[in-house]
Amino acid sequence: MKILRISHVGIAVKSLDQASRFYGETLGIPAGDREIVEEQKVAVAMHPLGESCIELLEPTDPLSPIARFLNKRGPGVHHLCLEVEDLQGLLRELKARGVRLIDEIPRTGAGGCQVAFIHPESTQGVLIELNEEMK
Ligand code: ZN
Repeated sequence: MKILRISHVGIAVKSLDQASRFYGETLGIPAGDREIVEEQKVAVAMHPLGESCIELLEPTDPLSPIARFLNKRGPGVHHLCLEVEDLQGLLRELKARGVRLIDEIPRTGAGGCQVAFIHPESTQGVLIELNEEMK
């Protein structure tokens, strides 16, 4: 099993502009890339920090998973993302160990990465995103 680093912490926000100003200007963590991930109906602003990022997520659709999260719990930490090698192989291994996976097959996430989520039931209550950077 090859987990490389904490890629980012995903934070659900109501306003990307307002949140990005706080992290960028008040905390002094400059904003990096912004993009819309159609598949997850979310607008993303990355604030790189060391070898990780703070990922701000604003829903672009009221039925998206992030919108549902905001409605239920309000803004806050949504997930932790770990960068891995060989995501497909890792998912097979986790499944064989009885870990509850949300995605058994990787899908495309922000930055064109391959991503898959582990259910919080298996991780002490934290939604974990696994991502493999495609070179
Ligand atoms: Zn993420």
